[in-house]
Amino acid sequence: MIKLSKFSSIFIANWKLNGNIEFIEKYYQKLLANPKNCTVVCSPNIYLNRLKNNNINLFSGAQDVSLYNEGAYTGEISANMLNDEKIDFCLVGHSERRQYFNESNKTIKIKTSNLINNNIIPVICIGETLEEKEKKLTKKVLDKQINESIPIESNFENSIIAYEPIWAIGTGLTPSLEEIEEVHSFIKTKNIRFNKFKVLYGGSIKASNSKNINNLPNVDGCLIGGSSLKVDEFNSIIS
Ligand code: PEP
Repeated sequence: MIKLSKFSSIFIANWKLNGNIEFIEKYYQKLLANPKNCTVVCSPNIYLNRLKNNNINLFSGAQDVSLYNEGAYTGEISANMLNDEKIDFCLVGHSERRQYFNESNKTIKIKTSNLINNNIIPVICIGETLEEKEKKLTKKVLDKQINESIPIESNFENSIIAYEPIWAIGTGLTPSLEEIEEVHSFIKTKNIRFNKFKVLYGGSIKASNSKNINNLPNVDGCLIGGSSLKVDEFNSIIS
């Protein structure tokens, strides 16, 4: 398993359902991963092993994993199979999976355990809706998501938390710097066991806001969707 504690910042690209072979070849010719940081590219599964290259501290990640380890589950890919293909990271509980594929905290917890058992680092995504934010329920919602979706065997060395306000994903909107810092500090201090966890911020990160967000004391890196598809923009975020 990758030693997370040696990195001060972790940047994770989430390509979602985008990319093709030509795109990947051009992208990797231009990608300049900063060897001091950990950079992860989460592509659609079929391309995961095309992403291997000589960049130091550049890793491949999956965007989801099956709830099951093996059996009659057509179309699924298990944590064991990802491990077989030497994949080091996997997103779990992304809001698009929760929203479009009925992912629940319960299934996220099982997937997270399966990944840890297979030496893959789960990136557990949590976040509130706009309605919840407006009703001042953010901390309550995150507390429930954390309590119900992070298994006891998760720790700062084998798991990452990504705070992604749903209303900030793909919208161009972000919380204020103060709000991000407050939420990250809440996540790390709500229970002593989360104190040393890496907590990433995700939601409308671009080159122009990434430095200020990543410089916040309790932000340990970023999860980047749309901007990670533009290699020059992504290079500037991870530089
Ligand atoms: C995401 O999908 O995880 C994400 C953060 O998207 P975007 O950067 O496009 O808001």
